[in-house]
Amino acid sequence: MSQHSKRADNFIKDEARTDWHDKALWHVREKRDASAEQLPEWELLRETASQIKDNVLSNLDNYLVQFETEAKKNGVIVHWAEDAADHNRIIGEILEKHNARKIVKSKSMLTEECKLNDFLEERDIEIIDTDLGERIIQLRKEPPSHVVLPAIHIKKEEVGELFHQKLGTEKDNSDPTYLTKAARTHLRNKFFEADAAITGVNFGIAETGGVVICTNEGNADMGCHSAPVQIHCMGIEKLLPKAEHLGVFIRLLARSATGQPSTIYTSHYHQPRPGAEMHVVIVDNGRSTHLGKEDFRNSLKCIRCGACMNTCPIYRRSGGHSYHSTIPGPIGAILSPNKNLKEYSDLPFASTLCGSCSNVCPVKIDIHEQLYKWRQEIYKNNELPKSKTIPLKITTKVFENPSVYNSLGKIARGSLRNLPGFMIYNNFNAWGKQRDLPDAPKEGFKQWYKKNRNE
Ligand code: SF4
Repeated sequence: MSQHSKRADNFIKDEARTDWHDKALWHVREKRDASAEQLPEWELLRETASQIKDNVLSNLDNYLVQFETEAKKNGVIVHWAEDAADHNRIIGEILEKHNARKIVKSKSMLTEECKLNDFLEERDIEIIDTDLGERIIQLRKEPPSHVVLPAIHIKKEEVGELFHQKLGTEKDNSDPTYLTKAARTHLRNKFFEADAAITGVNFGIAETGGVVICTNEGNADMGCHSAPVQIHCMGIEKLLPKAEHLGVFIRLLARSATGQPSTIYTSHYHQPRPGAEMHVVIVDNGRSTHLGKEDFRNSLKCIRCGACMNTCPIYRRSGGHSYHSTIPGPIGAILSPNKNLKEYSDLPFASTLCGSCSNVCPVKIDIHEQLYKWRQEIYKNNELPKSKTIPLKITTKVFENPSVYNSLGKIARGSLRNLPGFMIYNNFNAWGKQRDLPDAPKEGFKQWYKKNRNE
């Protein structure tokens, strides 16, 4: 069994949670559809966004230099990080320079990818995730299971129990309003005490050197407005050429993510407050290698809306943690093998290739086609397990030989009709664990065709 299959197997043991997870995400998908349908220009927006990002990826070197030049003119300190270790080292040095021991951080998949929290905690620096969902999973010592809804796999009763243990809320009170208020009080104190604020970046604007951060809770702003040092961590692919392009992406992002017309807060940061410091850390961490792969480069267009996860039948019924990678779901299954083909070779197979992910993607990434291409790469690189290569080889031989194919077809049809159930549904038949095979037809297609269509 692959890692994904094992973890998914574990997830679906809790049938009620699986059903509820599936329905909750499908509900978000439906909200996305309703919101998109309100805009007659929706497809035009998708196409425009895709083309803007094509331009960015083709001219990334120029836009990055332009961004740095403009940001520096505004008094921003710009850093370049080649990989996760570099990213963490840079942030560690900034914090050390300011003797910063208490940090607040808004949601950032990049800092998750770089394992920044572990790095800082090892150095006795307190880092508090201030997005409510992120704070919940931080208290549970878990990674996020979704890029937009990091705690979507957790029920409100579990949050009630967690907050009772960690924040001292009333026992057995899982009222969402009550719990949100408790979290707000707890986080407010953390904001006031913070020595530095760290955020992710949704968009960097090459023309202005500014960064844009979209949140629903205003937590990125609370941090940046109160702490004397603000640090924005940005992957190299996050750039847009001009401020005028932002409107296209803002209209797409929240609608695709949650069905909202826009996020509650869309904040623009261009320069430090008087007496404060603003840093932007620009991070590669494997992205330029990915950019060099013709078949996969356009997955760097991703704006992390999560729509491909909400619609994916595998994600919805296997949970984000089954992907054992920072970015889960269909897009994670394309991005992760680029980082480590061996470790993530199972992920492109965690898909039905139904194409629903590509249909909803606001920047028109051909996700399911790239998943299929990864499968071929994985095969060529001998990273397929024997449990897949041996049946594939046998099947190839059978398909190459019509008389063997016909005879085996006859045997299989006869066996399906006559064998007792336990010989068909057992541990060797993973497919049949939750499904019944259809009744075997009396004759094969060829015989049927000869009889019915050979006039
Ligand atoms: S691949 Fe597309 S749908 Fe999936 S998170 Fe990225 S932008 Fe959204």
